Amino acid sequence: MRIEEDLKLDFKDVLIRPKRSTLASRSEVDLKRQYTFKFSKQQWEGVPIIAANMDHTGTFAMANVLSQHGLLTAMDKFISEAQWQAQLHELPQMIPQCFASTGIRDDDVAFLETILTTCPTSFICLDVANGYTQRFVDVVKKLRERYPDKTLMAGNVVTAEMAEELVMAGADIVKVGIGPGSVCTTRKMTGVGYPQLSAVIECADAVHGLGALLCSDGGCVVPGDVAKAFAAGADFVMLGGMFAGHNECEGEIVDLHGRKFKRFYGMSSSEAMVRHRGSVDGYRSSEGKSVDVPYKGPVETTILDILGGLRSACTYVGASRLKELSKRTTFVRVTQQLNDSFSTFHAEDSASR
Ligand code: 5GP
Repeated sequence: MRIEEDLKLDFKDVLIRPKRSTLASRSEVDLKRQYTFKFSKQQWEGVPIIAANMDHTGTFAMANVLSQHGLLTAMDKFISEAQWQAQLHELPQMIPQCFASTGIRDDDVAFLETILTTCPTSFICLDVANGYTQRFVDVVKKLRERYPDKTLMAGNVVTAEMAEELVMAGADIVKVGIGPGSVCTTRKMTGVGYPQLSAVIECADAVHGLGALLCSDGGCVVPGDVAKAFAAGADFVMLGGMFAGHNECEGEIVDLHGRKFKRFYGMSSSEAMVRHRGSVDGYRSSEGKSVDVPYKGPVETTILDILGGLRSACTYVGASRLKELSKRTTFVRVTQQLNDSFSTFHAEDSASR
């Protein structure tokens, strides 16, 4: 056993220090990024924020609105072929803004093949809770060989050496985050995890050194966290909880004690396992929870809030483009008192049933 003494930080442990700026207005800030992906060589331009491939947020209704603002959506892997086909028929121009998601099971990979055969998306999201297994690396290699011109995002990992291994196996984008998710209970159930800001800083250095990109996945609860993730070196930021509770999410609005809520559960929660597999697998425990998040109306409002917060963050450090944010960022560590006020905000924002 060994103890690492280096300081590791979460989003709530830091703030971005303001810097002298020549920008006159936040409207001057350009949030679009242009990327050419390492292996697929595909070129993409847009606002690099992705809705998570979860039952409630990885929907076509979500993708529809997000794509109008240049954002991407990782589709829930349980979306049926019929739903993909209907979307292809109704709004074919939106399909390229959607990741087709898959796990590493043989039936997942076979279903991915079915979708990619007919739907012209060029993005694949391969994710598992634990991206450290040889089996996972083997599937990354297999997908890279099978789909040389698709942009492959793979994860999740939190350490530089494993992020490098995924790039060497063929990942264009490495997805980083174990344990920070709003409906994740991995840290409680297993004791495993890594503070998200440090994970992003350390992995970004590794993947950028190999010419690949990084997606920070999980742990953002306010627009300032999204800014901190980009400031730490993320090229994409994936959001679940911040996009939950909207009209575009799957599920009904429920009335609880006179207030409106929408259901949101983790993809490893008992609720998700029962829904998709019929029961909780006997050999594993649930590593996710179910919550009722306050109903938030149309997602458009939240998108504008997030983009407004990001533009403002860029203005505070004099970054005229999102691309410059991390170069211009100095983080300052904050006190426990500030931490407490952030977690209060979070607690009010989502209510456990
Ligand atoms: P959020 O933005 O809500 O903080 O985090 C979203 C991320 O949480 C997802 O993209 C995914 O990586 C992770 N996640 C989703 N469901 C579960 C779950 O049931 N268990 C765990 N450990 N992580 C989850």
